[in-house]
Amino acid sequence: MTVKQKELLCTGKAKSVYRTDAKGKLIVEFRDDITAFDGGKKDVLARKGSYNAEVSAFIFRYLEENDVKTHFLNMIDERRMVVRELSMIPLEVIVRNIAAGSIVRNYPFKEGTPLKPPVIVIDYKDDSRHDPMLNDDLVVALGLTTATELKKLKTVALEVNRLLVKLMAEQGITLVDFKMEFGRQGRKIYLGDEISMDSMRLWDKKTGASLDKDVYRFNKGDVMATYTSVAGRITGIKSAGKKRR
Ligand code: C5P
Repeated sequence: MTVKQKELLCTGKAKSVYRTDAKGKLIVEFRDDITAFDGGKKDVLARKGSYNAEVSAFIFRYLEENDVKTHFLNMIDERRMVVRELSMIPLEVIVRNIAAGSIVRNYPFKEGTPLKPPVIVIDYKDDSRHDPMLNDDLVVALGLTTATELKKLKTVALEVNRLLVKLMAEQGITLVDFKMEFGRQGRKIYLGDEISMDSMRLWDKKTGASLDKDVYRFNKGDVMATYTSVAGRITGIKSAGKKRR
């Protein structure tokens, strides 16, 4: 059933969220805006939103097939997704398989070092505070989740990581790290937001080349050529949808 788009509810750096005529359903629009460094670098890249939407939808469908509860319901067109309305938990849950990015800048890890087991880092989603890193006690003390919910979130985060590492490996891509956001509908917690080239760090297994927003962050090449090619690689995976146990 198609829903009708109603008024704008909120706007983020690269997505806009709209109310709909259906109770408990929202529309997320993936815009062509791209930003980095807390919005310090900004551009508009034609069709970028639709590639991120396509990859996010593909990944959410794949996760649902593998028993991960997500907010994804269906696509309306190439950049608009119907989702369950969630009350978002202001956490950025990052899973890291290989040391890169901020943990290399902030801690004595050498870039490229495998992290086994994967490292979960949880940041407080607040641009005005530059998304400071939290620990379990702080998450609970801030009232963001209960200790039980936090444990569950981490289990889900590691399961999503396991599934995505396998999916990407089938296309010769290493999942270095990625970020998730969760939200509640009633007592249930769902995976929300997006999982796209903006929120994952991906390296080509053969060449080591960046296949994600690092190309934009660090002027490593043609951002749209990278997004187009990696979206094709990810969504072209034939066996996606099969259970991976
Ligand atoms: O910058 P950092 O190395 O901490 O990022 C880790 C991962 O989380 C990267 O894949 C990055 O794209 C993602 N991330 C994100 N949104 C943020 C911060 C990080 O999607 N606000």
